[in-house]
Amino acid sequence: MRILIIEDEPNLRRQLKRTLEGAGYAVDTAPDGEEGQFLGETETYDAVVLDLGLPEIDGLSVLRSWRAAGQRMPVLVLTARDSWSDKVTGLDAGADDYLSKPFQSEELIARLRALIRRASGNASAELVAGDVRLDTRSGRVTKAGEPVKLTAQEYKLLSYLMHHKGRVVSRTELIEHIYDQDFDRDSNTIEVFVTRIRKKLGPEIISTIRGLGYSLEG
Ligand code: CA
Repeated sequence: MRILIIEDEPNLRRQLKRTLEGAGYAVDTAPDGEEGQFLGETETYDAVVLDLGLPEIDGLSVLRSWRAAGQRMPVLVLTARDSWSDKVTGLDAGADDYLSKPFQSEELIARLRALIRRASGNASAELVAGDVRLDTRSGRVTKAGEPVKLTAQEYKLLSYLMHHKGRVVSRTELIEHIYDQDFDRDSNTIEVFVTRIRKKLGPEIISTIRGLGYSLEG
């Protein structure tokens, strides 16, 4: 899952990036509304953390412009403390959730997790495919009740496929959602990750759909 953070305060931006990467997300950042708006228009994100007070273009204008263009990725806005009018305006402009500054990073992570889950049509925090279970809260994966250790990239790939169970996902889509912008993207590595996941969780977990991509069945 890939997240965009648009925040002008350098320390907070760095800290958010570290925190979300630590939680298993691929993360891009933008320091102002202009760059952030551009990234949101041109790249693919599973969720966006959008500060409202931004240089160049303010957060609300960025959000309105995306929504007017039909972009539907979940957006969580960061508002000033106790500003109920910011919250109302943000939600009306198309935000899916909000968080007031200052906030605990655990709460941000939990809210993003819920937004991503809902956007992909999953009601539960635990995703299930056959005897494989992935707990999006703890990042733990089990097969027939036994814990399975995955690397960070294997987990990102499996998590994306489990969020989109039953749908064919192309290699390009996987690359867009498991790597950040700066990552050296090589589509061959996707095949390598899939092979490793099959070794750990059984060959039947991920089907290759020739010429189209991969699919994970329930
Ligand atoms: Ca700000």
